[in-house]
Amino acid sequence: MEPSRQSSQGMTRLTDNQTPLRRATWAALLYLVVGVAWIAFSDRAVEAWFPDPETLSLIQTWKGFFFVLATGAVLFVVLLRQLVKDRSLLTLQHRQREALRKRERQLQVLMDNLPGMAYRCRFDPQWTMLFVSQGCVRLTGYQPEDLMENRLVSYASLINPEDNEQMVADVQAAVASGESFSLEYGLTRRDGSRIWVWERGRGVEEENGTVILEGIVLDISDRKALESELAELATRDPLTGLYNRRELSRVMEEELERARRYQRPMALLWIDFDHFKDINDTYGHAAGDSVLRSVSRLLERSVRSVDSIGRFGGEEFVIVLPEMDLEEARETAERLRKRVSSSAQPLGDGQSVPLTISVGIAVYPDHGVSVPALCAAADRAMYLAKDRGRNCVALAHLHQQVRKAP
Ligand code: GH3
Ligand code: MG
Ligand code: MG
Repeated sequence: MEPSRQSSQGMTRLTDNQTPLRRATWAALLYLVVGVAWIAFSDRAVEAWFPDPETLSLIQTWKGFFFVLATGAVLFVVLLRQLVKDRSLLTLQHRQREALRKRERQLQVLMDNLPGMAYRCRFDPQWTMLFVSQGCVRLTGYQPEDLMENRLVSYASLINPEDNEQMVADVQAAVASGESFSLEYGLTRRDGSRIWVWERGRGVEEENGTVILEGIVLDISDRKALESELAELATRDPLTGLYNRRELSRVMEEELERARRYQRPMALLWIDFDHFKDINDTYGHAAGDSVLRSVSRLLERSVRSVDSIGRFGGEEFVIVLPEMDLEEARETAERLRKRVSSSAQPLGDGQSVPLTISVGIAVYPDHGVSVPALCAAADRAMYLAKDRGRNCVALAHLHQQVRKAP
């Protein structure tokens, strides 16, 4: 704020009444008045003081010399003062110009070395770019002049259309509240590749009242990839790639809520491998892992796309079957059991072993109306199958039924 006040004061000083012409006129008038007064009064005075004509003529001559000397001295002082002032002004101008050039150079280096692109654009449907830094080439594949004033393409045409509406709303809100905005959206580069970008900017009001946006855009594709990798890791079992216990529990809650809302059935299959410990003991843990992986693929291939399958721990798997009643669930479980038992499972060293599974079935709302109740019922049913000699399917007991929730 301080510099602008100073400069406005400077402007007042420059535009006040003391214009160069006026000041020069005043100086000339002063000189005339002093000169005329000098001639008029000094002549009279010397005539009165020195009546002798010879002395008077000498004094007149010296008076003339004195006048020339005095006016010369005044002229010298005035000129010297002005020239010194001019010189210091020129030096100041030179220094300011140098400082400006240096700052421009620094700004240019900063812009060119930004990890992304700096921009200045209109807040219009095309996001018309008025300026983009050189980083535009690395970010979008386009030259700055291709984007500026939408010469070759508009920036809007590079933005993922699904993100655009939200972006406009966010920028509008930020501009209205005078705050800066942060956006994340997809961008299509010139070579057709898709990247994720993060943008931070703010609205700046121009002198004519229009709002211009200024900010930077950075490529955050690596961060996004890492984020989705982490999200994937957090929901998947690393050995089989199926949902882990936590994610499947979440899916179960979600599906149960849907089943409740639409009053539809939902089935749970609880699967445990038979005598799996023997495989580990005979062929080793790595061979056991190989069997776990291959049976996982087999189960995955054998269910519908709407079904969800997860590894609950060890060699226990749970399958969520939305919209399936008791009879359909029994058929599905039987189909899975037959598939597993009819194909030998690879051990990873070229050999394979036969394997069977025991499956417990619980159905909403017949055997439970909450996820823990259904899981407990399906687990107990699986032990029932084990008791019946393994390699079989068992339904949860109806006496395990819990009354429907109010
Ligand atoms: P049952 O028919 O009664 O189920 O017999 P089982 O041998 O399968 O017994 P149980 O289900 O109690 O044993 C599970 C075995 O699974 C024990 C453990 O060695 C093995 N296991 C658990 N997790 C893993 C794993 O990640 N990799 C391998 N290779 N084995 C595992
Ligand atoms: Mg087992
Ligand atoms: Mg087990």
